[in-house]
Amino acid sequence: MLKRLTMKKSKHAFKKAKKFIPGGVNSPARAFSAVDMEPIFIERGEGAYLYDIDGNKYLDYVNSWGPMILGYNPPEVKEKLSLQLEKGTSFGAPTEIETEIAELITDFYPAVDKVRMVNSGTEATMSAIRLARGFTNRDKIIKLEGCYHGHGDSLLVDAGSGIATLGIKGSPGVTKNTALETIVVPYNDRLSIKKVFEKFSDQIAAVILEPITGNMGVIDPGKDYLDFLREITRENGSLLIFDEVMTGFRIARGGAQELYDIKPDLSAFGKIIGGGMPVGAYAGKKEIMDYVAPDGPVYQAGTLSGNPMAMQAGLATLKELKDKKVYAELESKGAKLEAGIKNNIEKLQFPAVFHRVGSMFTLFFSELEVKNYQDVKNCDLELFAAYFKEMINSGIYMPPSQFEANFISRAISEQDIETTIDKNYEVLKHLKS
Ligand code: PLP
Repeated sequence: MLKRLTMKKSKHAFKKAKKFIPGGVNSPARAFSAVDMEPIFIERGEGAYLYDIDGNKYLDYVNSWGPMILGYNPPEVKEKLSLQLEKGTSFGAPTEIETEIAELITDFYPAVDKVRMVNSGTEATMSAIRLARGFTNRDKIIKLEGCYHGHGDSLLVDAGSGIATLGIKGSPGVTKNTALETIVVPYNDRLSIKKVFEKFSDQIAAVILEPITGNMGVIDPGKDYLDFLREITRENGSLLIFDEVMTGFRIARGGAQELYDIKPDLSAFGKIIGGGMPVGAYAGKKEIMDYVAPDGPVYQAGTLSGNPMAMQAGLATLKELKDKKVYAELESKGAKLEAGIKNNIEKLQFPAVFHRVGSMFTLFFSELEVKNYQDVKNCDLELFAAYFKEMINSGIYMPPSQFEANFISRAISEQDIETTIDKNYEVLKHLKS
């Protein structure tokens, strides 16, 4: 066993939280249940580091599950938030910042003409699905196994992330009829989706997927597969929805659609778009987005949608990302980490596979290739849990599940990457012994 950190105060805080909050947390993955640990309560974040209430310091690869691409508390965002705080935190009326951020998004995403802001990634995908159904006048959707699109009823079937971590198929409370309208097919597999289209051709409103997954760990299906989905949806009059809540502004400024030069009909965004504030958005071609109320018949609304504090944080973040140099830097740090970890795996002959796209990566505890949800489920989850525990105790904060992606922020230094490679080596070596 390597060293152990003291987490007395976190233990106490968790015990108290469990009395008043279901499971002690406001989102299940935070409970650390898959790794047989208790959650760490955070005091503050600065740059690449998180500090817990026991005074421990961690190098962070969670980035608040993706949004904090600039690191914690970036000055550019802090400044805009302070200015807005003086003016007021919410008006429920239009502000010019909303148009500014929407315009910037259309600039980054050629497939997007119009953007509707919501408050979370869940709302973004839920609304995109409603719009797809309303626009096509069809009911069924195709979802890919292991992709997570938030906790909306239609999309909570064979989902990744927390659902996968807890090892459950869906959720009680989602009606059978709702689930029946969601057809789930394996990721990275063409035959099954062809068969579904043969059977239900004129009933499929949309295919929704994470174009590169994060919620069953990082899996990149490649351009050919995404081109195939673009083609088959077009042929059948269905919409193609890219859920870029995680990959948007992350793997490239224009997400997976930029990386692979594909134009989906609709896109869902979240995380980075709010710069650490609760924001989501759905967006797409003018003729589809004009179907949304008040111009069109598909209703969707929100008291705090386009909230000025959230818009300021998002806009300040996106402005930093305007300069594509940020992505070149993230790529170079990611490549360094990848080379180091792959070298460790090889030196130790450790049964693991490393996947990375830009600043998103996952170390799968598998001897075999990982191409879909089933392959991730076949990973050695106990070994993952042991790895996680040792890494945390070495001061490296990672997502507490094999079914998740790690994120590199701009704030991470070359030295931090070297430290991570060294710790990874120490821990893998310890696990092998
Ligand atoms: N879609 C994807 C790809 C996600 O990764 C997530 C969250 O992790 C969501 C949707 C849901 O977003 P939120 O948690 O903001 O509701």
